[in-house]
Amino acid sequence: MNVLIVFAHPEPRSLNASLRDVAVSELERLGHTVQVSDLYQQKWISEVSKADFPHLAADDRLRVADASGVAFEAGSLTDDVKNEHEKLLWADTVILQFPLWWYSMPAILKGWVDRVYAYGFAYGVGEHSARRWGDRFGEGVFAGKRAMLIVTAGGWESHYSARGINGPIDDLLFPINHGILYYPGFSVLPPFVAYRVDKVDEEGFASLAAALRVRMQQIEVTPPIAYRQQNGGDYLIPGMELRPGLGGERASGFALHVDDETKCGPLR
Ligand code: FAD
Repeated sequence: MNVLIVFAHPEPRSLNASLRDVAVSELERLGHTVQVSDLYQQKWISEVSKADFPHLAADDRLRVADASGVAFEAGSLTDDVKNEHEKLLWADTVILQFPLWWYSMPAILKGWVDRVYAYGFAYGVGEHSARRWGDRFGEGVFAGKRAMLIVTAGGWESHYSARGINGPIDDLLFPINHGILYYPGFSVLPPFVAYRVDKVDEEGFASLAAALRVRMQQIEVTPPIAYRQQNGGDYLIPGMELRPGLGGERASGFALHVDDETKCGPLR
């Protein structure tokens, strides 16, 4: 299997870098081929700007989705973006790895998504009709591929529990898991989340590394989160609301979009 790790941490001696090395060596030991996009090391540009679209004249108004679609069709996106497209198409599994910063991903990784997910590639694809609303949420360019997050957090696991002050971790990661990974078609595996990491010692690191190795060993067989397919009949088109009667009486918010019948919780 081909695995792409998109890695976002500025320090090569960080805990995240050590965990990335554990994941890479375990995947390679299992016979997989791994590529890493190390965004800080690549000096990844995180801001979308006119420079991304060389076909635009200096006084053209920048309309990002339109410009992105034209450049993608014409093959005129910048080389850094095209290289990431190639890696994504090559990969059978994509891992996004990052420290939780302000309840989300570091800006450099969000900027990778903003620039790499071109119109016509990751969104704006498929038939729009009374029956379908494009190829998204379970369909799209990455259908058939797996994806997962490796996340480290300073907070305790209880802070991210169902009643924890930070909100449940599955809710915090929903915009990434569902909005960024499931949207263009990935099957999304439960995340690997390491909590309370700021004072990790040798013993703590050994236990995190062991748990991460197990997740890497299971990466081809771990059941994905059972997000509902947009065009599978669960949603009203074009309003995109879950059909009445689905989701159970107690479900609300993000949990509605996981099929209760096959709900798969986070593995830790
Ligand atoms: P490092 O600082 O590199 O290391 C952490 C510990 O691991 C250190 O004790 C280090 O000595 C040890 N270590 C590293 N490598 C090894 C190794 N190979 N062997 C043994 N020990 C090792 N947390 C939240 O929960 N929620 C937030 O919203 C949040 N927002 C943040 C925003 C910012 C801007 C910042 C800077 C931090 C935030 N944090 C938050 C905390 C953050 O998530 C953690 O600091 C981060 O996940 C730690 O990962 P790291 O790779 O930077 O760790």
